[in-house]
Amino acid sequence: MNSQSTSELFGKSVFNTSTMRKYLSRDQYSKIKRIIENNLEFDDELAKKFADAMKAWAIEQGARYYTHWFQPLNGATAEKHNSFMFPNSEDGVIYEFPHEALFIGESDASSFPSGGLRSTFEARGYTKWDYTSPAFIKEYKSSKILCIPTIFVSHNGESLDKKYPLLKSCKAINDETLRLINIFDNTNNIHKIFPTIGAEQEYFLITKEMYNKREDLRITGRTLFGSEPSKTQQLSDHYLGSIKEKVASFMDEVDLELLKLGILSATRHNEVAPCQYELAPYFGDVNLGTDQNQLIMETLKAVAEKHDLVCLLHEKPFKGINGSGKHNNWSLSTDTGENLLSMGKTPKDNARFLLIITAIISAIDEYSDLLRASTATATNDKRLSGFEAPPTIISAFIGEDLQGIFDTLIKEKSEEEKTIVLGETLLKSINKFSTDRNRTSPFAFVDNRFEFRMPGSSTSIAVCNTILNVAVADKISEFADILENSENIYEDVQNLIIDQMQKHSRILYHGNGYSKEWEQEAKSRGLKDIKSSPEALKAFIEPKAISLFSKYNIYTEKELKSRYLIKMEKYGYLTDIEACTMLSMAKIKILPACLKFSEKLIDDIAKLENLSIKADTERALLKEVRKNIDGIYKNIEMLNKKLESTRKIEDCEKRSISYRDEIIKYMDALRKNADNLELIIPKNIWPIPTYMDIFLED
Ligand code: ADP
Ligand code: MG
Repeated sequence: MNSQSTSELFGKSVFNTSTMRKYLSRDQYSKIKRIIENNLEFDDELAKKFADAMKAWAIEQGARYYTHWFQPLNGATAEKHNSFMFPNSEDGVIYEFPHEALFIGESDASSFPSGGLRSTFEARGYTKWDYTSPAFIKEYKSSKILCIPTIFVSHNGESLDKKYPLLKSCKAINDETLRLINIFDNTNNIHKIFPTIGAEQEYFLITKEMYNKREDLRITGRTLFGSEPSKTQQLSDHYLGSIKEKVASFMDEVDLELLKLGILSATRHNEVAPCQYELAPYFGDVNLGTDQNQLIMETLKAVAEKHDLVCLLHEKPFKGINGSGKHNNWSLSTDTGENLLSMGKTPKDNARFLLIITAIISAIDEYSDLLRASTATATNDKRLSGFEAPPTIISAFIGEDLQGIFDTLIKEKSEEEKTIVLGETLLKSINKFSTDRNRTSPFAFVDNRFEFRMPGSSTSIAVCNTILNVAVADKISEFADILENSENIYEDVQNLIIDQMQKHSRILYHGNGYSKEWEQEAKSRGLKDIKSSPEALKAFIEPKAISLFSKYNIYTEKELKSRYLIKMEKYGYLTDIEACTMLSMAKIKILPACLKFSEKLIDDIAKLENLSIKADTERALLKEVRKNIDGIYKNIEMLNKKLESTRKIEDCEKRSISYRDEIIKYMDALRKNADNLELIIPKNIWPIPTYMDIFLED
């Protein structure tokens, strides 16, 4: 691909501003641009023109259908295709796209979970156009669809999706941060502040041949059996290694498809684990970035398919090696192009910078439970706390330089000395922070952004960013309330920083997050270690969450309860599906293969002893094999029994806890027996590809 064709391809499948310009008059275009930028209402006539322009473009691109594209409460994205074509009176077809169809869609929402927000008799849900994320064309093997990003709400306006709350959280952080920065300088030209994100997407790539041979991968996205091979990632020889030909051509095609969708990869490389890779897009507005991350995941999967590969987005497809995360790089940008998380050049800017960093640190501490909850899924539970994934204790890492600045500000000093320190600190121009990587930190300050490393690779980043936005907005709001009437802004800023840091610096930690010492230390600081999802999800329905989200009109109590219920139920469903898949693989494949080997050993022993040859080795092997076969049988029985009793538990939370404590326990035990046997049974008898078979295909 040369640079010219690259720039021609960029955004080719997006109804972006340059496309709009071509399909609308200058006057229409500038009116629409104003509406989109300022979130205003469309009048009917302009709406018709806009829908006509979009239709003309989409048909020219070869699309015959359009769909409202949204993110329901579980699953990735949803779409229902509607045709542009209608029969005309003369046996022909006409193309129509009524503007009402652009703005609002009615969808039978009964097949989407609502967590009690809708009763079955009011099954309808409405999709409403989110014109801040441009429409785009999605290519299927033989057709193209115009996708219109929408939010999804019930008839009384409750959100049934992940995007509507995200949009509302953007408004909250915009309003509150504007207030704060205007206190520092009300002559600035800033009219809008928005979070920016760049979500690094990790994934595994394996051959379709191997994938098809393993039910666990096909049904659950991860291996439920498999012993660790002798050589995996110990030598780190895969990280940033040469990207093999097959993978390189896959990545090229991914780049190309993403280019058309207006998404530029900033980096792409091998990750530490075998068969693991990463793609990081250029950062941008959080709303668009969230949609784009969904498209990145869809594209990775679709292109892999074309290359006879399978892209695994599961957080922990393989035991004993690194899992996949979605490092959510988050910052705040102004419409004048300023990054509010960059150190300023003047004392005024530096005071503002330190205050905003203080707000973020305080927000992470104050709302750590909610941030932890935003990453809680059955699949991410398998990844957290090990193999380069952050631990389950939330902490933040800001690097020594920045920590040093705060330490200087906070140190016990006389009033007079305090003023001098602040003055010096603010005047000091620090161009570079030592933000060395701390792979074990859930929240790391990197150059000019915070990297939240806890979210899992398969989830939408809508929820964690909604929470991050609102948590920070709330802190900034608290600060703005205090500073709005300040007579001496610098003194008050310093006092505020000192006060907040004294309360919240317990969240700062620069050491090894996996160490036993940190567990102890965190406990003594009063930080929680929330190890599993059923525990973590409760944060959504705590009074603190209800009051935070209702204050900014993000989620009502009912909406929060619905999220809690859906997520809690999903935890149980996923674990149940895994348990059933394991049982089936153990009964149909693994046990028969092991019995076959055991029979062979018995025969061999008989034959040898018939010839008066000692069969000590065979006997020892047989003993080991039989022990594990008995273990498999016993654990199958126990798992069946526990599944039966767990499914009967009515209370959703108690049921999930039983899945966590009972079902997973027997699944682990069953796996252990099978994995022991995998190391004994000859390759030609073992019924599924091993980790080595899968990795060596790399
Ligand atoms: P790492 O070295 O941590 O793996 P990468 O280069 O892979 O980092 O990815 C960094 C990500 O951070 C990219 O997606 C990049 O676009 C994003 N990023 C950079 N600056 C910002 C910012 N100001 N706001 C949000 N994201 C950013
Ligand atoms: Mg990276």
